[in-house]
Amino acid sequence: MRKGILCAVAALAISSLLAMTGSVSLGQSGGQGAAPLTVIRAGTLIDGVSETPRKNQLIFVRGERIEKVADASAAIPSGTRVIDLSSTTVLPGLIDAHTHIFLWGEDPKKGGYDANILKAGIAVRAARATYAVRRALEQGFVALRDLETEGAGYGDIEIKQAIEEGTIPGPRIFGATRAISTTGGYNLEGYAPELEMPKGAQIVDGPVEARKAARQQLEHGADWIKVYMTHRSWVDKEGHLVSQPTLTVEELKAIVDETHGWGKKVACHAYNGIGLQRALDGGCDSIEHGLEITDTQVAQMQRQGTWYCPTLSPYYGDWEPADTPAGKRDRARAAVHEITFKKALQAHLKIVYGTDMGGIPWTEPIAQEFARMVSMGMAPMDAIQSATSRAAEMLDMKGEIGVVAAGAYAEVIAVAGDPLKVVGELEHVRFVMHNGAVFKNEIAR
Ligand SMILES: [Zn+2]
Repeated sequence: MRKGILCAVAALAISSLLAMTGSVSLGQSGGQGAAPLTVIRAGTLIDGVSETPRKNQLIFVRGERIEKVADASAAIPSGTRVIDLSSTTVLPGLIDAHTHIFLWGEDPKKGGYDANILKAGIAVRAARATYAVRRALEQGFVALRDLETEGAGYGDIEIKQAIEEGTIPGPRIFGATRAISTTGGYNLEGYAPELEMPKGAQIVDGPVEARKAARQQLEHGADWIKVYMTHRSWVDKEGHLVSQPTLTVEELKAIVDETHGWGKKVACHAYNGIGLQRALDGGCDSIEHGLEITDTQVAQMQRQGTWYCPTLSPYYGDWEPADTPAGKRDRARAAVHEITFKKALQAHLKIVYGTDMGGIPWTEPIAQEFARMVSMGMAPMDAIQSATSRAAEMLDMKGEIGVVAAGAYAEVIAVAGDPLKVVGELEHVRFVMHNGAVFKNEIAR
């Protein structure tokens, strides 16, 4: 653990240095015509949309945007800064569509989830979130859909503000603020009933309160609304995974109606059963986790164009002992999740890359989900697109991020090897350009 902390401090120091030397520029507009040209020489380009990579490409970057992408024979004006990534595979910056920058692991030895809320004040939590967003950018994740602050209020929108004003480095944030669940539908739990415990989500009962919570969160800047449609889960006598449903269809419909009116979308945490069905009937835009989705529900998702963010990684590690109720639950979750993921692949559901980072410590590689997806039958190119162009489309940023093409923001990363052969290469991102500024460069000089 000490070693981990030292590494973290070193990473912070390096990033601060980068920030001081002017590599971080996060302004969102203006001055395109006057900005100097930079050309990236890409050995192999995976552009985020095309099914096949292209060799020897030149990426012309002016200001925050990509001006054009051309073959290596294209003329480069004299005096242009050229970044030589000709020995690498170049890709669009990655997008993690399910994170929690304010969550700091759920290790029981460190107090589990509850310690995040009970033992850490808001300044510590903000410092941790600052660390998390920097880690994301260093690993080539240039956009995060951050699905709830876990009791840290509207902190995600404030971290986003700090990034956009250039105070701290970090990816684009699409924040969901507080999230919504019902009485009996979220932590903290298990304390004396006399105690009024803080909750990791905003608690509502009834469609009026549900709509009001959505309005409050949208008023304070939520880019998405996150709803918990299931909470506890366990294994019944027949060995089936059961999840406790939370909001009613009427409650969810009030939230979805309100949120869609603001031109925003609703992400629903739903494991299976009644809660998952209510999520679909209530019109959720994305299903989070979706451990066990029936064939009928898959068909409904196809009809409704529902996005599927499986977040496999957190369900395949840290299982409780096999002979305990929690251990049985953990194994049942993983078993059905794999079946569902394969079913979703076959049905061509719109799968987006999500990790649940925060539940997974931020010290771990964010790109670990790629190997998990590929091990369950997803083609590496499909997995890459789930974290680039497809995630961008879900975020209403199609053509803007998640693609290396003319007109897009210059969000460019590079890895040394071929991620189509070894998808784990994506855990070792060597070069990161964010909004046209080089944030990290371990390859070209
Ligand atoms: Zn989550």
